[in-house]
Amino acid sequence: MKKVLLYNIMDDEEIVIKEWLKAHPDVAVDSNKVTLNPDTVDLAKGYDGISTEQDNLIDDPIVYQKLHEFGIKQITLRITGYDTINLDLATQNQLKVTNIPAYSPRSVSEMVLAQTMWLLRHLHVAQNREQSYNFTWEGLQAREIHDLTVGIIGAGKIGSEVARVFKALGATVIAADPVHRPELNSILDYVDHETVYKEADIVTTHTPLLESTYHLFDENVFKKMKPSAIFINASRGGVVDTPALIAALQNHEITAAGLDTIEGEANIFSDDFSEKPFENDYLKTVLELPNAIITPHIGFYTDNAIRNMVNISMKDMLTIIAGGTSEHELN
Ligand code: NAD
Repeated sequence: MKKVLLYNIMDDEEIVIKEWLKAHPDVAVDSNKVTLNPDTVDLAKGYDGISTEQDNLIDDPIVYQKLHEFGIKQITLRITGYDTINLDLATQNQLKVTNIPAYSPRSVSEMVLAQTMWLLRHLHVAQNREQSYNFTWEGLQAREIHDLTVGIIGAGKIGSEVARVFKALGATVIAADPVHRPELNSILDYVDHETVYKEADIVTTHTPLLESTYHLFDENVFKKMKPSAIFINASRGGVVDTPALIAALQNHEITAAGLDTIEGEANIFSDDFSEKPFENDYLKTVLELPNAIITPHIGFYTDNAIRNMVNISMKDMLTIIAGGTSEHELN
């Protein structure tokens, strides 16, 4: 029987692991709530494999050396980001590292749909009014999605799903992406960035955060958009120049924004600050804006995504332990 150890397990993953074990009685799974680091690496002794999900860098060579000494052949990540791992040290110690490139692009696309519909139907305004028993209709007239053009910047894994979701609702979909995917030709029209900014009623960004996309959405870009445009960002905070977005919302250069991410969100999103202070003036300002909504980076967070994170990582781990090759190997 193979024995594996899952570091830093989350409560919602534990439920899925229990389901997974029913179908895999030949594997023994132990888990803990600590990250993999020099102080915890000894816990891996005696196991055939390990996985982890953490955002702190494992850069001490001792971790990789000890895993190798314990006979472990891999480090399986249960997340997409792998900047936590020193791939050179892993390779030197014959440890194959895998990540999960896409655990559910659909999950983020449905968040984009939810935020878009919330803003189109002015639900944030209606909800605020109702707190003081004001049930008036003024300003709540909406537009219908099938009459509108959705413009996607970056139609990769998630952007493609966003295109499919809005196309299914009858919207016109256009996208700017240096990479054209033939399978999307029946769903969207590829255009340049300028056309998306000028023509889209909903502009939604799905690029990675790269040097070339850092503050891609700046003052000039917001000025090019329709005053009636809704801007959605469920990619990375740094893709947007946040003061420029705030100014565009305050000056009504665009009508509204739905955000699932914001610059400086690290160590804030996923924590509770109802009883303690936090430092992020951008976030505080956005929370006060009447024409913005923000969610705490939960676009990915669905039952399906968690199930995929667990199932894909378990398969990768057992494949490599058995001497096979995973399509998600990074080194
Ligand atoms: P992906 O790599 O599959 O797709 C990104 C696309 O952007 C590619 O097609 C690429 O060609 C394109 N692109 C790059 N630079 C561009 C530019 N300047 N203009 C237009 N297009 C450009 O990535 P993905 O898996 O679809 O992820 C997209 C984004 O979503 C990433 O920023 C990722 O971090 C974020 N994300 C958010 C959540 C969440 O919970 N909100 C979850 C997962 C991923």
